Amino acid sequence: MPAVQFISDLHLDAGHPDATRRFLRYLGSRARDAGALYILGDLFEAWIGDDDDTAHSQQVAAGLKACADAGTAVFVLRGNRDFLLGDRFAAASACILLDDPHRIELFGQDALLMHGDTLCASDTEYLAFRSQVREPGWQQDFLARPVGERRRIAGELREASLLAGRLKTAAAMDANPDTVRRTMQAHGVHLLIHGHTHRQKVHQLTIDGQPATRIALGSWDTAAALLEFTPDGYRFEALAAG
Ligand code: MN
Repeated sequence: MPAVQFISDLHLDAGHPDATRRFLRYLGSRARDAGALYILGDLFEAWIGDDDDTAHSQQVAAGLKACADAGTAVFVLRGNRDFLLGDRFAAASACILLDDPHRIELFGQDALLMHGDTLCASDTEYLAFRSQVREPGWQQDFLARPVGERRRIAGELREASLLAGRLKTAAAMDANPDTVRRTMQAHGVHLLIHGHTHRQKVHQLTIDGQPATRIALGSWDTAAALLEFTPDGYRFEALAAG
């Protein structure tokens, strides 16, 4: 049975071509060992609409499509930075966009996949912003604006989020244990895989008297890593830099 790989929080950006090169190299090599690859959000540092067809986004879409065409099914969850990824990007990249959360069966075990931003329940300010920008009306209005204006608004929102982030405690920006437990109970799973917090770690917990596991993926900003599941279990694997 082919392996299943998970990555998250690549934060690809035209201004950091080394990171994009590393991702494209991964798509051309190690990713092709997998039967399925799940990208759990924030593939891009920013996404202002599928019609903002830059050379960088075309390059990434082409790399994803080549990987998918070679036989790895590629699934993408939207993150808090690239929540506007849409059907046109999915078609260009041959990726399948998934709703968040998304439940899969992983070698006989039910697993819940999330980006992870909704697990950070203490960050009420962010969650209010999130529900605003996920409204179809807000998105239609935003996407109807010229690309230049969208880029400016996205930059301002990013600045505001960076400023707010400096004032938040580390605990507020991590997954809330009660929210994790309630989410896993609601979906009837004992395995949760997510990104967003950039804190690569395996957390063991107990849900309804049963052992449960929450796996947080790291970001590619510092050290690139993938999580790979096979019928024998799972492990993190570091990817070479540059
Ligand atoms: Mn995120």
